[in-house]
Formats: sequence, C-alpha cells, structure tokens
Amino acid sequence: AAARAQSPAASDAARRAGTEPGPHEAEVRALLGRMTVDEKLGQLQQLAWTGATGPGGGQTAAAEKAARRGRLGSVLNVYGARTTNALQRMAVRESRLGIPLIFGLDVIHGMWTTFPIPLGQAAAFDPAVAERDAEVSAREARSNGVHWAFSPMMDVTHEPRWGRIAEGGGEDPYLTAALAAAKTRGYQGEDLRSRDRLAACAKHLVAYGGVEGGRDYNTVDVSEARLRNLYLPPFRAALDAGVATVMASFNTVSGVPAHGYRHALTEILKEEWAFGGFVVSDYNGVQEMTVHGYAADRSDAARLAFDAGIDMEMASTTLNEYGKRLLRSGRITTDRLDDAVARILRLKFRLGLFDHPYADEDTVIAGPTKASRAAAREAAGRTMVLLKNEKSTLPLGRSGSIAVVGPFADSTDLRGSWAGTWADAFRPVTVLEAVKDAAPKARISHVRGVDASGRNTRGIARAASAARATDVTVVVAGEAATLSGEASVRGDITLPGEQERLITAIADTGAPFVVVLLSGRPLTMEGWLDRTPAVLQAWHPGLEGGNAIADVLFGAVNPGGKLPVTFPRAVGQIPVYYNHENTGRPYDPHNHYTSGYLDLADGPQFPFGHGLSYTTFDIGEPRLGVSRVRAEALRKGDTVEVAVPVRNTGRRKGDEVVQLYIRDPVASIVQPVRRLSGFRRVTLRAGEATTVRFRLGAEELGFWTQDRQGRFLLEKGEIQVFAGNSSLAKRERVLTIT
Ligand code: BGC
Repeated sequence: AAARAQSPAASDAARRAGTEPGPHEAEVRALLGRMTVDEKLGQLQQLAWTGATGPGGGQTAAAEKAARRGRLGSVLNVYGARTTNALQRMAVRESRLGIPLIFGLDVIHGMWTTFPIPLGQAAAFDPAVAERDAEVSAREARSNGVHWAFSPMMDVTHEPRWGRIAEGGGEDPYLTAALAAAKTRGYQGEDLRSRDRLAACAKHLVAYGGVEGGRDYNTVDVSEARLRNLYLPPFRAALDAGVATVMASFNTVSGVPAHGYRHALTEILKEEWAFGGFVVSDYNGVQEMTVHGYAADRSDAARLAFDAGIDMEMASTTLNEYGKRLLRSGRITTDRLDDAVARILRLKFRLGLFDHPYADEDTVIAGPTKASRAAAREAAGRTMVLLKNEKSTLPLGRSGSIAVVGPFADSTDLRGSWAGTWADAFRPVTVLEAVKDAAPKARISHVRGVDASGRNTRGIARAASAARATDVTVVVAGEAATLSGEASVRGDITLPGEQERLITAIADTGAPFVVVLLSGRPLTMEGWLDRTPAVLQAWHPGLEGGNAIADVLFGAVNPGGKLPVTFPRAVGQIPVYYNHENTGRPYDPHNHYTSGYLDLADGPQFPFGHGLSYTTFDIGEPRLGVSRVRAEALRKGDTVEVAVPVRNTGRRKGDEVVQLYIRDPVASIVQPVRRLSGFRRVTLRAGEATTVRFRLGAEELGFWTQDRQGRFLLEKGEIQVFAGNSSLAKRERVLTIT
C-alpha cells in the first residue's frame, strides 16, 4: 500500500471514493449553489440519537428540530426502519432543500449477528472472515435504516493493556491492512446504492494505538517514519479499497490533538492520497481540543479542526455555532466550507439517498438468520488459537464424563465489546449448552467455582472434586466483555478475580484439563500456564461462540488461528512485539524477542503468529523466483515470487497459516527485525502437500523515511526472507536488490 501512494493508483482510489469528476458532480455543484451558509454548515453536523425526545432526551429533540430546518447532515446511534424513516421524513419532506440524512451506527462486529471481536478475526489470518462479517453486518444494518458503519477500526497497537486492542487487527500493519481492506469491501461491495451495503469508516486517524501505557485517549509522540510504516498502511489499504469515510482519533499526535493534526487529515489523507470522501470527528472530539489545552475556546476548536481537515462534527456543535462568525472574519473560507459539504453530499448521492431515502419497512431483517448464525459460527471457529496442547489433551472424546467449570462455563457474556445493546435480545449459546449438545452421550457436570471477578473462593473445592470425578475438565475462564473496548484499560492483565486459583486447584488434582480463554486482549498466564496441559484462546467469539468452542473442543473443527499480537509473560515486559527495531547489542535472528529483564525469562509467552493444530505441518525452505532484482524494476511494479512448500505431516485434515517475513539488515533507517510480508491460510488433508506462492514487490521491500513530504525508499542490498508458521520462522533465503 505504501508504495502505491506514489503511483497512479492514488487517482483510481480517489475516483472510487467519489472525488470529482464523479458521476454526481453536476448535481453536487447545483445543490451547493442553492444552499445558504446555514444549510451548508448544517451538513457538517452529526447529532446523537438517544431514542427519547424532550428533556433528558440528549440530542434527539435537537436532531429533530435541526432535521426539519435543514440544519443537519447526519445522525448517529439510530437504527430501525420506522425510527430512521420518521427522522428522514423530517429532513426530506420538511426542510427547504430536502437533503436526506445519513444514519451512522457502531456496527463493529455485527448488527444482530454478533461475529467474533475484530482481534479474534485477525487471529483467523484469513481476511475472508472479516469480509463475511462486514457483508452480513451490512445486510442487517442497511435493512434497518443504517447507511454507515463506524468500522473498520485499524489502530495498530503494541499495548495489550489498552482496551481497544479488541477492536482492531493487533500489532502488525500488514495483517491489519489486509483486514481493513477486506472489511471495507465487505461493507461497501461494488455499489453503495445496494440495499444491503454500508459506507465504511476507516478509524481512527491516527496512531491511536500508540497511547502511552495503553491509557485511552492519551499521548502519542511518533516519528514520521513510524507514522508511515506502522500506523498508516491500514488506512492506505482501506482507501485503496474505496473506503467512503475516515474518523479522527482522540489522542494527541506529537503535541497536537489528532482532530487538529492537519498533517495526517489533510496533507497525507486528502492531498498526498487524494482521498475524496469525508472525515468525521470522533464523539465530541472537536470540542475536546479545548480540554487538551490546544484550542483557546470552542470557536477556536471549530476553526482548528476545520482547518486540519475535519468535515463533519460528531456530537459537539462548534462548527454550527461559530461557523458563520468564522467565515465572516475570514478565519475559515467559503472554499473550504464548500469542499467539506461537497464531500458529504457526494456520499449521499453515492448511497442513492436522494432517490431512495427510506428503508423498506416490509423487508426488514429483524434478527439473526440460520445462514447468518452459520456464518458467525464458522467465523468463530476460524479465530480460535490453540496455544498449548500437551499429551494431545485436545480434542476431547464425546463419551465418558466431562466437567465444565469456571465463571464463563454457563455465561452468555461471549459477544465482546461493541456488540451493541440493540443485539442484546439475541442470547448467545453458552459453552455448557454447546458441550451438552455436541456430546449428548457424555455425562456432563457443571460447577462455576468462582465468579468472573469477585474474591469468593468457596466454590473452588467443589470444582476440584468435579474434576477428580470426571475424565476431563474444561475450565472456561477469561475476562468480561466490559474489561476491554473503549476506556476499558487494565493495569494488570492476568485472569481477574480468583480464576487463577481455580485453575491451579484443578491442576492440583492431577486430572486432565483444558483452559478455554475468553478475552479481548492477550492475558498473562505466568501463574498457571506451566501446570495446564492445554489452552485454547477463544477471544470473545460472538453469538455462536459457544458452539464454535465446542466444535473445536471435540475436533469437528481443527483450530488453525494464529496470534495477531504477541502475548507477554508479564506486564513488565510491555511493550513486547515481534517487529521491533534491530538493536546494537548481540542479535540472534531466530531469537529476536530477547528482552533483557533480569527478573523475567527471555521472550514473550507466545510469539506473534503462534498457533497449534490437532495435526502437524512442515514448512520448507522458501524458494525465490530470482535471487537478484533491480530496484528500478521493483519501482516499476515488478515482483519477486517466493514459493513455500508446506505439508500436513499428521493424521488429520487441518489448517496452517504459512507466514512470510522479511528483514532488511542494513538500511538508512533502522528496520524491524522482522516484518510480516505475506501469509496464506491453507487447508490440507493428512499427508497432503502444496506450495504457497507469495509476491514481494516494492510495497513489501521498501520503507518510508522521516521525510514529512512522504519519501518511500527501496535501497540496494540484501533482504532476508523467512518462511514458517510463526514470527520465529527459521527457514531463510536471501534476496539481493541491485
Ligand atoms: C469512539 C468511536 C465511535 C464513536 C461513536 C467514540 O467514543 O471512539 O470509535 O465510533 O464513539 O459511538
């Protein structure tokens, strides 16, 4: 994606995103010509629907009033065909120009059918999972009057304490970029006028994942090279996939609140990348620049945000309150106002809202369907990561006796953060129910043992006796959905409450057991991992998560997910991530996680890309199509083929993710010790072999410099190419760029 920024592809993206000369340009211009300044400013405003009118109804009453007066562009947090239609009628029938509203909602991993959390989807190492989630979400949401999802979130992060790690693709820009593009395609499809598509929103620009200590909304100080090599590639990929909108982030970026960071919102996004869509602020993000101590007052905040490139203001109303005065005094320009309004109107045309402003109340999708549930179950199965499996503890047999214990055994808290209260009516199948369903002949006992966060340990003894009395025990442990997501930061990422004590008590019995972990982030496991024979990382797996877990426990699904983020041993190791820079002191290319803490073992608990299967695989040496390539040729679009043989050496059919990493050992900017530059999830029968082919081009082999103007370099020299099934991949070849 990076390299394409300099190529003619940028204008293709702009065309797809609806920039002039798009198909609706004449209509947009004609409409602009008829609009008053108030009506123009109105298009920049998005208000939040709270469902209630009158006092205490938040912005609802204000939204209705503004819609009728033609002083509103969009409403968020609203859904339901009847509700949205009523609101839309106010705008279309009662306002002077009848410009339709856009309705936006946080459809993050499902509308009715909750898919696994995005971090789990990343673990599938299969962008088709994210694409499918977005397709199903789009169908359900659009039929309920929603036009616009505030998704995909693509904030690369090294911070497992940060609750929003659950919402994105983890620590790797290449993987996150692939997911961002897939999800954008899934939401938007070919034609946004289709009644089963949504406009997508790439968020949050920029570097939000870099917040210090993982503290939400916090400080980020980032070099230009890191901005461009680590944080921006997913945005660029979403843009190439035609993403309609972009959202700004709450953090500061090198001293400036992101809502005022013109360098990202305008210089890079709109100028360098020719983005033709619009930029929406985050909730109150414009006004909050006064709290940051960056804007002197709300009028100043309006000016700074607008100048930086914010086109639509979510929730706070500074542009509407102060826009006219700012125009009159020349502190904002009519050109900029027309530019912002045109961007918003283009999307309304692109969505077909001028012709079809209303949702069809007769064909509303009112809940999950058999097909959507099947899709969610399959997706969840693909997200599961088998972290450990000694003595083939898994898969379980379907007969004999099984104890299902732990606070999440009979819990419906499986949907994860941002599942949406609107979907609360649809109760997930619990692990216990699913286990009973999958093994009807087995004798199944259930003891909760401890609860998810409290300190009561009285049930532990009973859980231990259940473990002693059965053939195998499944401990369903983890963290509640409310412990991850926005503003849900943890300083300690061990299992909450007394869950560790429950696990060690089960271990003390000497009976075989497995731990299923539900979480929105990596958890540390030092207190119990060594004593636990098998661990399945199940994330927050969504509506069908219980069934998907049972599918994996009993082997109907052979797990093939991989970690999209490094799992630390202890909080003191954070940040620990695979693609850190080369250091000056001894470097072992195959043990590149060396952390150097006196009181911690080297390396993380589990490396990026790690994940086991019920079968085994052998990945062979990568073979390069050529061993030398000219930089000039790469710049012109040439690529080098890398072929990697892979064989299923076990006795079961299974999935392996073949991973390709590169290292540029000498460069004018110190490079990461490894960079993921290709991955492919393949399914192989027992004994079956195949060759996976990757292509390395300028995009993979080059890097961005510190130059603020954006300089992408492809330097001469060696590139080490590694293939394997985790970031510790050892099979190596050398490619020389001449
Ligand atoms: C979040 C956004 C979200 C918005 C609207 C904000 O607090 O940061 O990601 O889209 O709220 O709900």
